[in-house]
Amino acid sequence: VWASLQINRKLRQGVTNRMLRTERIVSRYDVAQGCENVPIPCVNAVDDEDCPSDYQYVSENCQTSTMNTDGIITRLKRCSCSDDCSSSNCLCGQLSIRCWYDKNQRLLQEFNQTEPPLIFECNSACSCSQTCNNRVVQAGIKVRLQLYRTPNMGWGVRALQDIPQGSFICEYVGELISDAEADERENDSYMFDLDNKDGEVYCIDGRYYGNISRFINHLCESNVFPLRVFMLHQDLRFPRIAIFSSRDILSGQELGLDYGERFWDIKSKYFSCQCGSEKCKHSAEIKKRFLFLSNQTNNEGIYSIYCK
Ligand SMILES: [Zn+2]
Ligand SMILES: [Zn+2]
Ligand SMILES: [Zn+2]
Repeated sequence: VWASLQINRKLRQGVTNRMLRTERIVSRYDVAQGCENVPIPCVNAVDDEDCPSDYQYVSENCQTSTMNTDGIITRLKRCSCSDDCSSSNCLCGQLSIRCWYDKNQRLLQEFNQTEPPLIFECNSACSCSQTCNNRVVQAGIKVRLQLYRTPNMGWGVRALQDIPQGSFICEYVGELISDAEADERENDSYMFDLDNKDGEVYCIDGRYYGNISRFINHLCESNVFPLRVFMLHQDLRFPRIAIFSSRDILSGQELGLDYGERFWDIKSKYFSCQCGSEKCKHSAEIKKRFLFLSNQTNNEGIYSIYCK
């Protein structure tokens, strides 16, 4: 919608440009196939690529081998609130240090985005109602998003509405796999590590099964960030990853996650960041400068376009 408005404006101004492409609606209805609260359309104004179909859209994490998540209801820590769980007496809030959601279901301003606490939302053993204040991620996607073809980063996700800071956007959904399984898979571009201090480490792989979050590109000036959230179970090995806005996002802006230093340590040999920001930390330019400074003659680096 945003891009077509831009194009229409140019047409109205009488600009004739042979390169001008009209935006093609690749999937008129919904890439989520009705799995989410809101439809997610897919548009392409850049090239002839069709809506990606090399994966299965799932709206919840799935397993292709047994993971034995501990979901025994009697072991859940729960609250016994009879109000809307916004008071400091709510045990679920206390588990998260405090309940970090405000009345608009957004994270409080003082929420620490750099070292976020674990969030425990109310669960099926709590005595509160399904509409209490502490059930945001479990309510699913509420904001309008669009899958679109970016000029130089393959597919990306953009907002179709203004999204205030601290809003829940979507969960990072995929296939739950073990660390050992992750090591054996060739394509690790869609993996999200569920770090765990107690040994057993798991991973969410969005390559074959995933939701809209698998298309969120890395941006050096990110506007979304991940949080670990527990809902139906409290098995610390399997946190669910919820993506929230780290600042106000305007309608039409691309959503971008900082994939982190570890990602770039591995990937920078194969490609460089195309985010185009003045603050870009992983551009080809920066890398050349780094290689020059470290006085290396390295011809191995294959700089190709970062493209999902
Ligand atoms: Zn409560
Ligand atoms: Zn509650
Ligand atoms: Zn509760």
